[in-house]
Amino acid sequence: MANIPLVARTVTASLIARADRVLMHTYARTPVAFVAGEGCRLTDADGRTYLDLAAGVGVCSLGHGHPRLVQALQNQVDRLIQVSNLYYTEPMITAAERLVACSFGDRVFFCNSGAEANEGAIKLARKRSFDDHGPGRYRVLSFTPSFHGRTLATLSATGNEKIWHGFTPLVDGFDHAPYGDLAATAAAVTDAHCAILVEPILGESGVVVPPAGFLAGLRRLADERGLTLIFDCVQAGMGRTGKLFAYQHEGVVPDVMTLAKGLGGGPPIGALLATEEIASHFTPGSHGSTFAANPLVCAGATVVLDELLDGGVLEEAAERGARFRIGLEALAARSARIVEVRGRGLMLALLLDSPVAPVLDALRAAGVIALSAGPDVLRMLPPLIISEAEVDEALAALERVLCRDAVSG
Ligand SMILES: *Cc1c(COP(=O)(O)O)cnc(C)c1O
Repeated sequence: MANIPLVARTVTASLIARADRVLMHTYARTPVAFVAGEGCRLTDADGRTYLDLAAGVGVCSLGHGHPRLVQALQNQVDRLIQVSNLYYTEPMITAAERLVACSFGDRVFFCNSGAEANEGAIKLARKRSFDDHGPGRYRVLSFTPSFHGRTLATLSATGNEKIWHGFTPLVDGFDHAPYGDLAATAAAVTDAHCAILVEPILGESGVVVPPAGFLAGLRRLADERGLTLIFDCVQAGMGRTGKLFAYQHEGVVPDVMTLAKGLGGGPPIGALLATEEIASHFTPGSHGSTFAANPLVCAGATVVLDELLDGGVLEEAAERGARFRIGLEALAARSARIVEVRGRGLMLALLLDSPVAPVLDALRAAGVIALSAGPDVLRMLPPLIISEAEVDEALAALERVLCRDAVSG
């Protein structure tokens, strides 16, 4: 309960006190408790409203309370919530058809989170290599920095010591090359490698767009060395960067792609997509997940895909991202505290010259919820349905917090 920002937050304070007694301390939670949301607005337990630039960490792609999403989920709740993957349901098929229709992927495996999608991708790459080459060629090359999840295998793939500190020994079979450095990556590949796992834009590690040609170079390297190229689009997928999938900015296609965060518009869902040849290495019994592909989350994902592709949300998100970016560049030109503007589409960030935590507190006091991505990076992943007026409102709040001199002058 260290720093409740303003006085008289009585309901919030009592919720935080209850949480402190029963929840594990895995998160340094922001001292705010949300009770409702609509569009890009959140309401806290004491009735205060905020502009949401976090969207549940890039999950609520259609914002809060989107009428079509709510209706589809409600209909599905009334009809059928879960039967498992031992049976067929129409929503799992429709969601998979939509994903196949809009991507390079021929087949989909659904799961419940980003880490689980990456676990599946790692297993698929290992299985393909085992089937084609026998044991011994199982290592996965990923990057420093990077973030691929919190399970033992995905934290072993993650290029960030803080994520794996205290959990050693790591899972065997992961090596790291410097992100963005093609020559070093090529030098790191050995005959024991079966895959390259890479975020097409770094998310948690600071919102970093790789140098032009990096992803294309990885594609060439993977082809030359017979490696499975896996793009972790958990954060940079589903329209977040102004294209449906971040790698489309580079015109490069992976062999395997993972999705999660924005895919379901809120409910937990992940997906693993692969070409026919690679997907064929998973056979009955190879892989599974009890909750995955349940009709509830798949009904949500279908609405998200429909809204993005047929409802104009993708184009509008790209426009909003461009507007936001121009505004951020203008702020950066006026504020000595902004070192760099980063990101693409509505996956945006400001590298600051100082710690981000007090900036997030000041923004919250000004009624805006944003994220960090490392100690000095302010990250914004607003709902993709953010309006022009809301982008301008966000920029005005950032201006008040980051360019105080310009405002008071
Ligand atoms: C969030 C994230 C993950 C992990 O997703 P979870 O759903 O938290 O398991 C993996 N990769 C990337 C790029 C992410 O941004």
